[in-house]
Amino acid sequence: MSDIKPDINLLDFSLETLKEYFVTIGEKPFRATQVIKWLHQMNVDSVDQTTNLSKPLRTFLTENTVIRAPEIIIDQQSADGTHKWLLRLADGNAIETVFIPEDDRGTLCVSSQVGCALDCTFCSTARQGFNRNLTTAEIIGQLWVAKRTLQADPKGPRVVSNVVMMGMGEPLLNFDNVVNALRLMLDDNAYGLSKRRVTVSTSGVLPALDRLADTLDVSLAVSLHAPNDELRDQLVPLNRKYPIKELLATCRQFLAKKTTERNHITWEYVMLDGVNDSDEHARQLAKLLRGIPSKVNLIPFNPFPSTRYARSSNNRIHRFRDILVEAGYTVMTRKTRGNDIDAACGQLAGEVNDKSRRDIHFARIEQGK
Ligand code: SAH
Repeated sequence: MSDIKPDINLLDFSLETLKEYFVTIGEKPFRATQVIKWLHQMNVDSVDQTTNLSKPLRTFLTENTVIRAPEIIIDQQSADGTHKWLLRLADGNAIETVFIPEDDRGTLCVSSQVGCALDCTFCSTARQGFNRNLTTAEIIGQLWVAKRTLQADPKGPRVVSNVVMMGMGEPLLNFDNVVNALRLMLDDNAYGLSKRRVTVSTSGVLPALDRLADTLDVSLAVSLHAPNDELRDQLVPLNRKYPIKELLATCRQFLAKKTTERNHITWEYVMLDGVNDSDEHARQLAKLLRGIPSKVNLIPFNPFPSTRYARSSNNRIHRFRDILVEAGYTVMTRKTRGNDIDAACGQLAGEVNDKSRRDIHFARIEQGK
């Protein structure tokens, strides 16, 4: 046996790509379905456990592939039951994944990149800079690890019923790997989550959003945060490339390619004291979204060290919400969870090794890649 680890990770495959791989090694495609079930329903970490596979296939997989998920370095639990995992990747980077239990669901907040290149001024992930995209195995591996841990929870097993791509990174800048992982989340042979319960959150990478509309059926959340370009340019610098008017047009098209599940867009709006939270901003927002089936998700700002922003007062958030409700919108104010362990929105930081690669990534965005 050599010490060199094979670089084919079985967690990198969706059902479709595993079938293709099996054909290239002379195996029957239906074996792929069996393997996917072992990996993602039974969450095995060794080919030895896949007892219904033929001996030759098991030997082949043992010699030529690995099952490698991110490794838990820290599993912090908040007083409110929220888990935050710091997960180590094979190259030494670390990412964060958060589980938020509620009475009727359990939501896993999944990262898509090591750091983030978008540089939103109110987000602590932006401070980490950008290192690289996560692989499919590293994205689905977060769900794999969470499911295994939560099943064995001493306080009783918990189930991941919902996934939100709202951890570190911009999912639509890692399109192929994110889509592959989403396919596994939706696949009945893997996690079998309903389309309504899998949400991609984006700052609005419009060409990729167009592609998503044609590729997969999932729920969409858009990080809007401001009702006009002048303010959004400051908060979400990507707006300078893809301004609000174009963003809304793309979102309308997304909804037009309608399926039963795809019937509204959730708009995320972080409440920043004295910045974007006035009555006038609320009225502008109500006008802006008119005609688009919408839910508005107000997110009280979660502070982090060295930020120049503060959270809007509860009174202000209520007033802002009331204006939108009076205008006919469904509004949710996101409860802040896991605050005591820095697991709330925008507080995920991980450990990004080389933070200097943001410029490279931005150059790629500029080229439309
Ligand atoms: N890049 C994607 C995924 C990140 S999702 C996106 O922009 O949608 C995380 C959500 O939390 C986004 O809406 C983000 O804007 C918001 N957020 C970021 N920093 C925050 C903070 N400090 N407080 C509250 N919400 C924040």
